[in-house]
Amino acid sequence: MSITAAHPVRIVGAGLAGATVAHELRRAGRPVEVIEADADWGGQLRTAAAAGILYEPTGAHIFHTADEEVWRLVNALVPMRPYRHRVRTEVFGRIMSWPPQLPELRELPQWPAIERELAARPDAPGGDNLEAWCIELMGETLYREYIEGYTRKQWGCEPSELAAVWAPRRIELREDGRLDLFRDPHQGWPEGGYRRLVDGLLRGVPVTLGTPVTVADWDELCAGASAVVLTCALDEFFADALGPLAWRGVRFVHRWFPDAEHVLPAGVLNTPGLQHPHTRAIETKWMSGQSGPGTMVSYEYPNAPERHYPVDDVQGTNRDLHRKYEKLLAQLPGPPRVLAGRLATYTYIDMDQAMRQGINVARRLLSAVG
Ligand SMILES: Cc1cc2nc3c(=O)[nH]c(=O)nc-3n(C[C@H](O)[C@H](O)[C@H](O)COP(=O)(O)OP(=O)(O)OC[C@H]3O[C@@H](n4cnc5c(N)ncnc54)[C@H](O)[C@@H]3O)c2cc1C
Repeated sequence: MSITAAHPVRIVGAGLAGATVAHELRRAGRPVEVIEADADWGGQLRTAAAAGILYEPTGAHIFHTADEEVWRLVNALVPMRPYRHRVRTEVFGRIMSWPPQLPELRELPQWPAIERELAARPDAPGGDNLEAWCIELMGETLYREYIEGYTRKQWGCEPSELAAVWAPRRIELREDGRLDLFRDPHQGWPEGGYRRLVDGLLRGVPVTLGTPVTVADWDELCAGASAVVLTCALDEFFADALGPLAWRGVRFVHRWFPDAEHVLPAGVLNTPGLQHPHTRAIETKWMSGQSGPGTMVSYEYPNAPERHYPVDDVQGTNRDLHRKYEKLLAQLPGPPRVLAGRLATYTYIDMDQAMRQGINVARRLLSAVG
């Protein structure tokens, strides 16, 4: 792999991963070009405003990380509000904390049954599917109330059909009374919204917008390029040549409350019950720290056609198909090609991980400079 001044790295996709690769290469004085399908950059990260009140049209994003380098980079580009994220959830006919807190659970009339189930748990959850893993973590009563309905709505299948790979990072039962969702040392929300972060990453980078790239464009994409970085979904890039990958998407309905300071008790209110078609409601004003009358609440509905989340089935079928797409990409002629970001790697990653991948990809390309 080599990068020369005359031969740019071409990056497909101007979301957080692609923008981070571009930023790091540009900072090192290397030529880059970014090509983006959408009419704007930012990918999943969007900021909008109604009467000056910020909200996120494509879903709530809370920045949290233990990665010092990523945190330094973010803060160099945009001031971060010291926001600590709290999530409430509608369970047992009440509004309670997410993750479940034992001190709160002890107040419930259901506590004797919950306590018996907790006493019967193994030392550590080990089930290989999501349902088994969660029941071993929290017992059946809590699983049915907090997880089962939410998962069925979110993923459109039985929790027992899903692998438990990502569960340890996202599901817990707490005893310590700590109400912040995340435990990472660095957490925040960008002053003015995420647009400033992506704008900062792409400052000085040539970007072509409104240009979806597929394998049919491969020769043109590679012409004169020292390397190609793909941050797009491989099934879409190859026009489903090996069949479509399984994805799950969400959509949002935004409702403006003109007179209210706040409508929700926290930034996010989960609604796991099947009586609600949405999975959660989001009030960005908690994250932005804005005040005054008027607030936007965004209701998140599952089963949209967008490629938001890869589906990790228990058999690993979807991941196998993704590996086949990676092999297909490797067989194409031309310069080195690298994958980064949630779509191209078919992984459920947070923003800090997307940026870490971007930094690592840029570093690999730079270290190969002859
Ligand atoms: C609903 C939701 C909530 C989330 N909340 C959080 C959170 O609270 N905290 C957190 O850390 N993370 C959160 N995330 C994850 C976070 O959004 C991602 O980690 C991050 O935005 C991924 O960036 P990316 O560049 O990999 O992908 P994307 O943002 O999807 O960017 C990919 C870009 O590539 C472009 N593209 C796609 N195909 C092509 C093509 N063929 N040709 C050209 N361009 C193409 C797309 O238009 C897009 O701009 C959330 C994700 C979702 C879906």
